[in-house]
Amino acid sequence: MSRRHNFCAGPAALPLPVLNRARDELLDWAGVGASVMEVSHRSGEFVAVAEGAEASLRRLLDISDDYAVLFLQGGASTQFAAVPLNLSQPGQTVDQVVTGQWSKKALQEGRRFADVRVAANSAEQKFFVVPPQDVWQTHSESAYLHYCPNETIGGLEFCFVPEVSTPLVADMSSTILSRPLDVNRFGVIYAGAQKNIGPAGLCLAIVRRDLLGRSREGTPAMLDWQVAADNDSMYNTPPTFAIYLAGLVFEWLEKLGGLNEMAAINQKKASTLYGVIDGSDFYHNPVERQSRSLMNVPFTLVDAALDAAFLKGAEAADLLNLKGHRSVGGMRASLYNAVEQTSVEALCDFMKDFERRYG
Ligand SMILES: *Cc1c(COP(=O)(O)O)cnc(C)c1O
Repeated sequence: MSRRHNFCAGPAALPLPVLNRARDELLDWAGVGASVMEVSHRSGEFVAVAEGAEASLRRLLDISDDYAVLFLQGGASTQFAAVPLNLSQPGQTVDQVVTGQWSKKALQEGRRFADVRVAANSAEQKFFVVPPQDVWQTHSESAYLHYCPNETIGGLEFCFVPEVSTPLVADMSSTILSRPLDVNRFGVIYAGAQKNIGPAGLCLAIVRRDLLGRSREGTPAMLDWQVAADNDSMYNTPPTFAIYLAGLVFEWLEKLGGLNEMAAINQKKASTLYGVIDGSDFYHNPVERQSRSLMNVPFTLVDAALDAAFLKGAEAADLLNLKGHRSVGGMRASLYNAVEQTSVEALCDFMKDFERRYG
């Protein structure tokens, strides 16, 4: 077996113990003589898996009964539409903060359904900064404020939770479970699974219960959070394998010691890599210090003409998926929960060696 160091932004690396466990029980799962993918989602065995996954997630994030936990489909991108459909009425305004490619996409989709007011936008600063909240323009009559706490592509992360009078809605796809989180500050949290939760195809939503049952007329049943909540996320056939694997990931996190422990591990990984970037004139990260992402670290080389050689050398050193997003170029290393310190150190060793050879 040769597992290589995987810095993919998503679908991302999964914890090895989780993959081993899934392999071990793939053919005969829970003693039923079939794989978890081959049993009814209504079977007692599978319902126990879904309930166990939810319970584990609730323990990890300390989610109270005031919140519904929903396992949805269509990725985070579907929630860009589900949010306005569930929370706003036609003609009502909503506030959105734009700090990068994902919140921009959420804005484009939001505009299809709602009268969106852009509360703040850092496009002019190339999305290298988070606009401080005192310059935001929010509206108390808006249905909610939407933002993206961690911009996966730009590597920009909010170092504060916004204080607003309207429900706070957060796309946490690339930051959820990377550290402790006070869920009570939010109206709705959603996250595509393929970064820190499990395989693609699953999207997690945590919805304060008083925000359920407000969907506008004509909302498709599959996008209506109330319908999902009423049916324990099984209005139709859910992505059973993804839910099973997410449950294993949650269990792995609990065994590790929970999110305080995970946060310490993640801090160490990030500071190791940022340390190498900042310690050289050869590598550069453009994001303002206080808003640097813990999970996604973009960096450029002093001369973009060296990018191809860097990526080729990295690949040869078993360092995968370091090419930056096509919209920003350069490199990006994603350091999600399943990426180990040893992988980050292998990357840093390669970077220092590359700089010695080409710097
Ligand atoms: C990956 C990502 C998305 C898109 O997720 P899909 O599941 O592909 O729709 C949205 N927002 C953020 C912040 C992401 O990182």
